[in-house]
Amino acid sequence: MNDARTANPRFSVGLTGGIGSGKSTVADLLGERGAAVIDTDLIAHALTAPGGAAMPAIVATFGAEFATATGALDRIRMRTKVFTEPAAKIQLEAILHPMIRIETERATQAAGGAYLLYVVPLLVESGSWRTRVDRVLVVDCPEALQVARVMRRNAMREEEVCAIMAAQTSRTQRLAAADDVIVNDADAAQLLPQVERLHAQYCAMAQRSAGRPA
Ligand code: ADP
Repeated sequence: MNDARTANPRFSVGLTGGIGSGKSTVADLLGERGAAVIDTDLIAHALTAPGGAAMPAIVATFGAEFATATGALDRIRMRTKVFTEPAAKIQLEAILHPMIRIETERATQAAGGAYLLYVVPLLVESGSWRTRVDRVLVVDCPEALQVARVMRRNAMREEEVCAIMAAQTSRTQRLAAADDVIVNDADAAQLLPQVERLHAQYCAMAQRSAGRPA
């Protein structure tokens, strides 16, 4: 049994996938069925929204020009900076990661649901997350489809999407870390049976683990 399970005995799934693979879509579907969804990306966004808890440290570290007029993080400016300056990426992560960890823990304590579903875009890249969850669920689709979806969703250029993808782990490495895979390369009709099957499996596993010794 790992440390995190000792700290948090509830059955947990870590959901990951490359940008545009369909993580949020799958998390919503599992949440509708009863999973307790804790989305670390949404937590990070809240921390960097207007009045967000991370904004004072970000402004103090990087300057007021990294906040928008409303006081949110200027994401485009920051993305450019961290892409070109590795030290800035480390500084930003040093601010955000401990706060994300605290908020994730808070959400975990408050969570109901049949099981915990953590949405973690960079789960495979982060050693600690892999040991903190009972199952790693990867949402997978061809890279060309990721690019097309994100270009449409975020009105981004192909090169911008490809640059983000290049900074993420490879599809092969992500799949190698998976306990379970959802293939999301078509429409909802293809997605739903996979979601239903895994949800039933996770509910059964959660029930079994509720009976395991602490
Ligand atoms: P992620 O959270 O991994 O970045 P999203 O769940 O936001 O990905 O999906 C990326 C985009 O593709 C969204 O606009 C979403 O609505 C769309 N999308 C995801 N899966 C499908 C699907 N099976 N059919 C149609 N559109 C989809």
